[in-house]
Amino acid sequence: MALLEIKDLNITYQMKNESVYAVQDASFTMEQGDAVGIVGESGSGKSTLAMGVLQLLPKTALIEGQALFEGRDLLTLSPEELSKVRWREISVVFQKSMNALSPVHRIGRQIEDVYLVHFPGTPKKEIRERIYELLKVVNLNERVYELFPHELSGGMMQRISIALSLLFNPKLLVMDEATTALDVVTQSQILNEIMQLQDKFNLTRLMITHDVSVVASTCNKVVVMYAGRIMETGAVTDVLVSPRHPYTQGLLRSFPSFEGEKTDLRGIPGSLPDLTHKAEGCVFAPRCPYATDRCRTQRPEIQDVGGKDRPWQVACHMTGGERNG
Ligand code: ATP
Ligand code: SF4
Repeated sequence: MALLEIKDLNITYQMKNESVYAVQDASFTMEQGDAVGIVGESGSGKSTLAMGVLQLLPKTALIEGQALFEGRDLLTLSPEELSKVRWREISVVFQKSMNALSPVHRIGRQIEDVYLVHFPGTPKKEIRERIYELLKVVNLNERVYELFPHELSGGMMQRISIALSLLFNPKLLVMDEATTALDVVTQSQILNEIMQLQDKFNLTRLMITHDVSVVASTCNKVVVMYAGRIMETGAVTDVLVSPRHPYTQGLLRSFPSFEGEKTDLRGIPGSLPDLTHKAEGCVFAPRCPYATDRCRTQRPEIQDVGGKDRPWQVACHMTGGERNG
């Protein structure tokens, strides 16, 4: 059984006078041990998808579909059942998770409080030992326990957030732009640590990022999103090496390569469509260099392009190999 199976997920923000169709017909699967990166430009619905699965969205968000975690649909759990799943079985690290901490209490004391909410009556010594163990795992000194949040650098903050997320040995770790705000050196150190943690703690990881290079270097699978829809999904070694979807191709051309000849960054002309309307045809058509009349009127279904043992799916009318690279 898959660890997480997202099936036909639709998430709509219902505003006073209009609706924002932030996620439309999204389906993908995560097996135990997978590291899946959801990538796409800002506003493509990545965070909405992940936070919707955990029911962490505001009440204005209407969520339809299924999110099966070990076969249980997270979208049908009661708030009480969900509070047992979150953090203990699925934990999340946000871009600035530590902003949630109180500035006037020491880090260690606040983590102890979190622990006691989930496991009341645990001896403080036992909690402290667990936290020291996790601080070591993320390369932090035990002295951090006695510090206040304002005494930490951004990198230290994110390391603590990661340590905190591992407090109860979750099965699934969700990272939402967790290293985006860090300098490149710290980001690369932390990403290396995360990959080591994945083996050590037998984790499955969902990474949400706009940075393709983060997915390329730390994930085995990728889900490419554009304007609320999944455009392409499959193994990183397929999708990011020989992308089939014109959007994935454009996204990759927008990132510099440190190897090979110097080439111009071309980007993707145009901008995301207005998500208050559902596109009649392909949502990428207004920016796609290959768009035809059919693309503008008929939505492309997601189709298998990888064969039996090679999950690879693309939502494009031209995925038969007419146009690669
Ligand atoms: P980013 O990388 O900038 O966080 P994203 O790909 O994660 O972008 P989302 O934040 O999920 O995208 O946003 C998807 C769409 O939903 C956008 O059009 C956004 O404006 C809209 N949206 C997000 N949150 C809300 C909200 N609370 N109410 C209404 N619309 C929202
Ligand atoms: Fe481009 Fe048409 Fe494919 Fe959409 S369906 S990505 S418009 S070629």
